[in-house]
Amino acid sequence: MDGDRALSDSRSGRSPSLSLVWDDRFREYDFGPEHPFTERSRALAVRLLSGFSPPTEPSPVSWVGPVSPAERSLLASFHRPDYLALVEAVAAAENPPFLDTGDTPGFPGCFEAAARIVAGAVQGLDRTVAEGTPAYHPAGGLHHAQPGRASGFCIFNDVAIAVGRAVRDGRKVAYIDIDAHHGDGVMYGFYDSGRVLDIDFHQDGRTLFPGTGFPTETGRGDGAGLKVNLPLPPGAGDEALLPLFRRIVPALIRSFRPEVIVLQHGVDGHVDDRLARLQYTPAAYAEIDRLVLDLAREVSSGRLLVTGGGGYRAASVSRVLARTGLILAGIDLPDNDRSLPDSWCAEFFEETGETAPATWGEVARPVPSGWRSELEHKLVAVLEEELGQRFPSPDR
Ligand SMILES: [Zn+2]
Repeated sequence: MDGDRALSDSRSGRSPSLSLVWDDRFREYDFGPEHPFTERSRALAVRLLSGFSPPTEPSPVSWVGPVSPAERSLLASFHRPDYLALVEAVAAAENPPFLDTGDTPGFPGCFEAAARIVAGAVQGLDRTVAEGTPAYHPAGGLHHAQPGRASGFCIFNDVAIAVGRAVRDGRKVAYIDIDAHHGDGVMYGFYDSGRVLDIDFHQDGRTLFPGTGFPTETGRGDGAGLKVNLPLPPGAGDEALLPLFRRIVPALIRSFRPEVIVLQHGVDGHVDDRLARLQYTPAAYAEIDRLVLDLAREVSSGRLLVTGGGGYRAASVSRVLARTGLILAGIDLPDNDRSLPDSWCAEFFEETGETAPATWGEVARPVPSGWRSELEHKLVAVLEEELGQRFPSPDR
């Protein structure tokens, strides 16, 4: 695999590099101190990543910013005009109400804050399309927002808008979503599109919001057979995620041959994140990052946009998202027992009121999940039946 990677780098004539989309004003997407979602964790990831990059010339990480809020016409490529008018009114209200039934509070300036995150995704997309090297938008990945409503902490759907832009430019897009929650806004947004392959790993919708994403939901019309859902039972960890990912994702990507890959990299499936009940470890995230990066180099001319997503423990969000940036930039990962910089630990305390983790790799130990390989074979059998495609097990 390393040999292939070196070859693809030398063929393209480029050294590995990453376009990092960040603007400190992304932090204005802020539901208040009592709300579980905060861009402060993503800011901490960016600080950690930036501090770790080697001071070489040219730097392996190039910054994309500042980022101005997306134009209304871009927002309207996915969202309905009446919904945009509603968010605008809520953003200007004296006491902004909720934008949905209770998860997503309005706040002063919410229209502009959410529109800036959309622009970040689109600038990242444009950069990776132009350069053929990965772009990374850790503030984004707001995959639940629907055309006509907010949902699950997501006001505007930055990833759907970026996917839609690539599709309108005539490109085929593979969207991969590893957030603990099903990416319903993106999947239903492109449910009948033959240009969007959607592969989504998530905790089973019978046990978690938003209650969708079943293997029988495979797309409609031109999109039939292109929406692939892999629900995992509560408790599932690396032993469930990784074999399925290796078995399903490369096969689907190689047969669809997308021109761009978008990875929604939610980290709320992390073993330390208790909003959902999955148990992924940083090692699984790192393997998936490398696999998707290799697939992008093999299939989509290196075009890869990675966004953030869910994640509700600052200690896990900041370190995992920083490591993802290092992998995408081709920088060697720090050892797990390496301590974190003092200045960053001080900033962590200031931002969160919590003591920073001691090392890069300190993480809770997963408990036995009850996952068995029969469950993998059962899920794959359902997918094979629904999609009419075989997914041979590499070890069979
Ligand atoms: Zn989530």
